[in-house]
Amino acid sequence: MRFLKKMIDLTNLTIKKAHEGLKEKRFSSVELTKVFLDKINTKDKEIKAYLTITPELALKQAENADKKIKKGEIDILTGIPCAIKDNLMIKGVRCTAGSRFLDKYIAPYNATVVDKLKDCVFLGKTNLDEFAMGSSCEKSAYFPTHNPHDLERVPGGSSGGSAAAVAADECVFALGSDTGGSIRQPACFCGITGLKPTYGTVSRYGLIAFASSLDQIGPMTKNIEDAEIVFNAIKGKDKMDSTSCNENRNKDLKEIRIGVPKEYFGKGLDPEIEKAVKNAISFYEKSDAKIVEISLPHTDYALACYYIIAPSEASANLARFDGIRYSKVADGENLIDYYLQNKTKGFGAEVKKRIILGTYTLSAGYYDAYYKKALKVRTLIKKDFEEAFKKVDVIIGPTSPCLPFKIGEMVDDPLAMYLSDIYTVSVNLAGLPAISIPCGESNGLPIGMQLIAPAFMENNLFKIAKLYDNTRN
Ligand code: GLN
Repeated sequence: MRFLKKMIDLTNLTIKKAHEGLKEKRFSSVELTKVFLDKINTKDKEIKAYLTITPELALKQAENADKKIKKGEIDILTGIPCAIKDNLMIKGVRCTAGSRFLDKYIAPYNATVVDKLKDCVFLGKTNLDEFAMGSSCEKSAYFPTHNPHDLERVPGGSSGGSAAAVAADECVFALGSDTGGSIRQPACFCGITGLKPTYGTVSRYGLIAFASSLDQIGPMTKNIEDAEIVFNAIKGKDKMDSTSCNENRNKDLKEIRIGVPKEYFGKGLDPEIEKAVKNAISFYEKSDAKIVEISLPHTDYALACYYIIAPSEASANLARFDGIRYSKVADGENLIDYYLQNKTKGFGAEVKKRIILGTYTLSAGYYDAYYKKALKVRTLIKKDFEEAFKKVDVIIGPTSPCLPFKIGEMVDDPLAMYLSDIYTVSVNLAGLPAISIPCGESNGLPIGMQLIAPAFMENNLFKIAKLYDNTRN
């Protein structure tokens, strides 16, 4: 028995496998947790996925889980070690959102998703671009995280810490947040599965807001089945978030119709990625799915629209950080100077840029020209999807137009960096669910594809994604 235990690497288990091991008492949650804490202590020196490690909390939760398991009270997630993106609050644990501003901020309450996962084991908080603004994890005020497939490359962002932690087997699964692609793009870059649920399906209470009409929390996992398990655990109406609901519009699919948008295979897409996604499409075709060419004509405007709406909402959300509430980073001669010093020292350059941009697009003189216009374009983008979903059940395409890039390669080229979200942002603008799953690799670097479904049809999305399952079992 002991011998067998040493033979299996417990850190690469999926939720289901870890659950079976716990249930059959092959190992305890404390043993499993210690294996992960050891792994983090060694491996995370090079990956740098975690901003804060919480061994005491983790071991206490693991002991509680073991007590429950002993009494036969075991649920699928009981005693499973996981990581939480550092913009989600765990009561009593530092929560920085990747910002200097919140360096010493201790969360006063649990996010609803954290409460819902209370039978799991929280190993720690993962790195992110400051306030989730970025696509590479390089905009974290602390340090960049490294891609486990190639340490010189970025893990994607903003949930790059969570993606790298899952890919490097430094946790069984992780939570991320996605405003314009921050779950799916890092999942794609790290070769794992990432789900952005339908807007409103998962409560945002206790998530440090970036752009409230776009933000959603979701699972980052080793396979599709695990994503489904975590999604089912965290979803549901919450009285603390008035946008949350219990909708379920899944329907029986007799024939599966898959839409291929012509706009997603144009200029700027890496040929290796195009090849891998097209192979996946042929796979579906061979499995009797009906492949339909569709058009999403406003795709070209999605990035411009997103980069008006997201900064506008961010400028309003981030106004609360004034050095008086939450935490302070500087002193001042008088009140105005105090605000100035705190905001100057607390926020990084990318965050400042977006606050200034958002304040401008919301200002009285420019509101109609920018913000209101962007809202109209958002409606057109939503309508594109509504039209498409009259003909198909899911839409397939690449998650990212490029492979994971080198650390430092794009920091001075914000437009190139923003382009890496070209296929993901419209999904947030339309409030739809989408999943990124691995579909190949190029020179050892993962390639991912994205499946998009109509609102509240996550189960259909899982079902179709599972037909093509290239992930770990
Ligand atoms: N990369 C996008 C941005 O910088 C999306 C970020 C996110 O989804 N949080 O805004």
